[in-house]
Amino acid sequence: MTAPNIETIVSLAKRRGFVFPASDIYGGLGSSWDYGPLGVELANNIKKAWWDWVVYERDDIEGLDSSIIQNRLVWKYSGHETTFSDPLADCRDCKTRLREDKLDRNADGKLVCSNCGSTNLTESRPFNLMFRTTIGAVSGDDDPMALAYLRPETAQGIFINFKNVLDTSRRKLPFGIAQVGKAFRNEVTPGNFIFRTREFEQMEVEYFCRPEDAPRIHQEWIDAYDAWLGTLGISSENVVHYEQSKEELAHYSDRTVDFLYRFFPDREDEDKQFDELLGIANRTDYDLRVHSKKPEGEDGKRINSDTTEDLSYFDPQTNERFYPYCIEPSIGVNRTLLAVLMEAYEERTNDKGEVRVILKLKPSLAPIKVAVLPLAKNNEGIVTLAKKLRRDLQPSMRAVYDDTGGIGKLYARQDEIGTPFCVTVDHESLEDNAVTVRDRDTWEQERVAIEGLKAYLQERLS
Ligand code: ATP
Repeated sequence: MTAPNIETIVSLAKRRGFVFPASDIYGGLGSSWDYGPLGVELANNIKKAWWDWVVYERDDIEGLDSSIIQNRLVWKYSGHETTFSDPLADCRDCKTRLREDKLDRNADGKLVCSNCGSTNLTESRPFNLMFRTTIGAVSGDDDPMALAYLRPETAQGIFINFKNVLDTSRRKLPFGIAQVGKAFRNEVTPGNFIFRTREFEQMEVEYFCRPEDAPRIHQEWIDAYDAWLGTLGISSENVVHYEQSKEELAHYSDRTVDFLYRFFPDREDEDKQFDELLGIANRTDYDLRVHSKKPEGEDGKRINSDTTEDLSYFDPQTNERFYPYCIEPSIGVNRTLLAVLMEAYEERTNDKGEVRVILKLKPSLAPIKVAVLPLAKNNEGIVTLAKKLRRDLQPSMRAVYDDTGGIGKLYARQDEIGTPFCVTVDHESLEDNAVTVRDRDTWEQERVAIEGLKAYLQERLS
């Protein structure tokens, strides 16, 4: 089972401290969200799983953390200043701002307002999605010399550091550069909880290779992501691949395959249940060329007269110099977190007929790995032992102590936030130096000696 709809996750996330509406005490800020104690743990675990996978488990990728604000020329030459826009139309009747490419058409082929159903829409115009800011204490808000942008993707920070990483790491093709970080887009229609926000986080790899190898490597990344999503608990029946048509491709892309996840299982039309979780593009040599000083346009003039560098690659084996092609798998942290929560959601009826929520998160992603619970909170011996066990476990795994309810309620609370194991300290524990370990998924209980508790939990968590 997965969550029946996003609203179920919104309410769980708020109730239990995964995600809160941002600026809530001032009335909120449209489509902005803050990650609470459990949300930040889950997001960190997702980022760690990704980094372990791309940087540590492979041997051909280096990490990077580039600036959010770069020289404006980065965005001029990347093409973002002129082309990073969505088609914006206004509904003349209800005044809603609409993303034209996301609207349905009626039987006459006319675009229909998604808010009120009217077809009385303005012509669409391009709306640039980059957030503007100005640099420096003396600059005026409209000073073009001070204009800068918050990055709309982490990728460009990688391209402009291509030579730095190549020279210092002494890599040979093929190799990649990985980065996790915030990106900002002034989205026309943000919404659906954390699915589309104006501030979000991306995990991107730019994988550089010889041009002739790019199609094969592109396919290898597609297969690799299919497998990796499985390790997060995302089932293949909720993921479909979407091959972008030539008309849809971004200006830099030769081929892009999007992975769509079933974020909207409650929609009647099955096609509309799916939306983008990640995209894998063959960006060709576009980015390295446009940031280089040597390439010339059709008019014989240099396409970039501002850069000081040439981002070509010299292959010592073939004595060739060329601009590598680049395969880019790009996935959002926030959409991954949403998919992971939806996928893990399960409802189960206990023997008293009560419906319980269980979040069947993979142990590696669970915000809390173990909860230590005293069976009697008024018994000093039990409480002292339970607190000691928590302290002993905490350095090796996230552990909490909770005595704020009866044991049934405490178990239910941990199930709902995805804690794989509860450890209960009871009267007998003081005699036999053993505790009861309860499994979140099976609700089965096992008696385990305190001496071997940490090793037992570590093994079952791994
Ligand atoms: P969409 O078509 O949904 O606007 P996109 O194709 O513009 O997405 P990319 O530029 O390919 O997105 O960005 C890579 C990934 O970053 C996306 O697959 C998604 O996971 C994430 N992402 C992009 N925009 C947002 C956003 N506004 N909010 C949350 N995540 C986002």
